[in-house]
Amino acid sequence: MAPRKLAAGNWKMNGTLASLAEIDQLLADHPRPGCDVLICPPATLVHALAGRVEGKIAVGGQDCHAKTSGAHTGDIAAAQLRDAGASHVILGHSERRTDHGETDADVAAKSVAAYEAGLVAVICVGETEAQRDAGETLDVISTQLAGSIPEGATAANTVIAYEPVWAIGTGRTPTSEQIAEVHALIRDRLAARFADGADFALLYGGSVKPGNAAEIFAIPHVNGALVGGASLRAADFGPIISALS
Ligand code: PGA
Repeated sequence: MAPRKLAAGNWKMNGTLASLAEIDQLLADHPRPGCDVLICPPATLVHALAGRVEGKIAVGGQDCHAKTSGAHTGDIAAAQLRDAGASHVILGHSERRTDHGETDADVAAKSVAAYEAGLVAVICVGETEAQRDAGETLDVISTQLAGSIPEGATAANTVIAYEPVWAIGTGRTPTSEQIAEVHALIRDRLAARFADGADFALLYGGSVKPGNAAEIFAIPHVNGALVGGASLRAADFGPIISALS
C-alpha cells in the first residue's frame, strides 16, 4: 500500500457556522478530489460540518484529552469527537505544545486515546528557528518522533505532519531540500520502527499556499499538506487540493 495523499485543513480558532459555506463551495468546486480531504474546524463546528459533508470529506478535531471522561473542564475526549462525526484528530501541534505545554509523552498518550476511540491521529513535529539555526533539526525531529508516536501506531491510524514552527503562519517555507531531508528522516525512522512504516502518509505544513503547493508536493515522501490559513477559504484550499490530486 502506498501512502494515501491527504490535503488537511487546520482552521485553528477560526470560524463560525457561517464559515461552513466555504466547505459547500469547496465541495461544489471539487466534487471528486483526487486525494483525501480533511477539515479540522474548531470543536464547536465538528458536528455541524460532519452532518453537512455527509462523508464526502473527512472531519477532524484539533486536540483531545488522553482520558476517556471525567473532571477535565474545557477538554474533549477522543470518543466525544468521534461521536460528533470526526474521523481524525490533530495532536501535538506546535501551538498546543507552546500554549499548553504539551510534551511528547502527552502527545503519545493522546494518540493512544485517539486510537481507542477509532480516530486517526495526525501527529505534528517540527523544529523552532533557533533549533534549525543551531543545526539541531534532525535531532529534534527524531526525539519528537520517538516520544510522540506510541506503540500501536500504523499507517491506517496515524499520519505524521512535519511543521517547522518558524514556517507556521509566517509566509516563510523551508527550501525543497530542507523539506526533503526531514521527510526522508521521518520515513527512515518510521520504517525502522513499524512494519508498515513505508505506508504512513507524511504531510508538510507551514505556509502552504496555492502558489507553492505543487513544488512542495513534488518533494519525495511528501504525501500531502497540513494547511492553516489557506484552508479557510475555498478559493485558496481548492487549488491546493488540485495540486495534490
Ligand atoms: P499555516 O499553518 O498554513 O497558516 O502556516 C499551518 C499549521 O499550523 O497547521
